[in-house]
Amino acid sequence: MKRTVSIPAQLNPSIFLPLLEQCAEIFNAHVDWSPENKTYNKSKAHAALYEQMKKKHSEVPTAFIQAVRDTAMEAVKATAFKKRPRKKKYSGLRFDKRTMTLRGEQLSLSSMGKRERVVLKVPDYFRPIFDSWKLKGATLTYSTQTKQFWIRLVYETETPSLKIAGTILGIDRGIQQLAVTSEGQFFLNGNIRAAQRRYLYNRKTAQAKGTPSARRRLKAMGGKEKRFSRDVNHRVTKQLVSLEGVKTYVLEDLKGVRNKNRGKKQNKRIGSWPFHQFGFFLAYKAQMLGKEVVYVDPRYTSKKCSCCKEIQKGSRNKSKYHCRKCNFQLHADWNAAINIRDNYILSSTSKASEEQVAVIQPSVMIGNNQSQAYCLVQ
Ligand SMILES: [Zn+2]
Repeated sequence: MKRTVSIPAQLNPSIFLPLLEQCAEIFNAHVDWSPENKTYNKSKAHAALYEQMKKKHSEVPTAFIQAVRDTAMEAVKATAFKKRPRKKKYSGLRFDKRTMTLRGEQLSLSSMGKRERVVLKVPDYFRPIFDSWKLKGATLTYSTQTKQFWIRLVYETETPSLKIAGTILGIDRGIQQLAVTSEGQFFLNGNIRAAQRRYLYNRKTAQAKGTPSARRRLKAMGGKEKRFSRDVNHRVTKQLVSLEGVKTYVLEDLKGVRNKNRGKKQNKRIGSWPFHQFGFFLAYKAQMLGKEVVYVDPRYTSKKCSCCKEIQKGSRNKSKYHCRKCNFQLHADWNAAINIRDNYILSSTSKASEEQVAVIQPSVMIGNNQSQAYCLVQ
């Protein structure tokens, strides 16, 4: 499996912008030559253009001329002469073993004239990849909007087989508790709640002011808030994948939940935290360990009793779940997490024995107490 690690790099624009520009020109010269000569053969392109390119772009290291030629021919081949895949002025440039070396955090890049060195700031959550995976190559990109260079490092490692033995863990994601597992582990945060309230308050006051400086602060805060939630998601998913003996993590599929009519509360729950990101982080960390993340339908997971499987309205009161039928009581998120796990076990019939299926027949009870009329719906 491959992962791309993108890191901002402080590089000298007066050296690297001309490099990008000239390499784009070399690329385009090849792309234009190719259809006229009806070939994307690399040796033929080399014979026809190499000396000419070397003369014209005398400051560009020849390793780039060769590498750019190869990528240009591959690009033409991919379009089968139907399009000319020309590059823009500052299009990204691929580096390989000949044009870059990475020692620790020090990256050295070939460029116009001598090699340039830059120290990369590697975020903590990229550490395991950075330290132990194999570096396959890198692309240098430049954003004309933010005037920022980025190094995109491509790493590879063998995909662990999914054959490890382990249990199935259901996870309920929420705002009060960020994650609660079917084994009763709570990943809360009081801190998150406080931070969210603070962000909300700051945002509201800045919005109310509406001055240019308030608007700027609002924009900066958006970034801060994003970084905060990303950091929390990284930390919690890291703890979850580290749980020993667990092989499969079951999450609710919250895709399109906001579009369906699920009520204000549910929408607020989904809108106020990057749950999608949480799932993504969990999945890629799990994959590295030979574990897996699967999704189930989120319907009824919070209304169903995880003990007798009765689905009833009004059984949940804030953080408490109390089943009117069998008198089962549990923290509501914990109850939901068990349902999430069991829904997965049920949905994959090969994993569930017939007995389990027979016991867990879904039913809906309308009305919240047994003395009232109720109706069971299959
Ligand atoms: Zn019950």
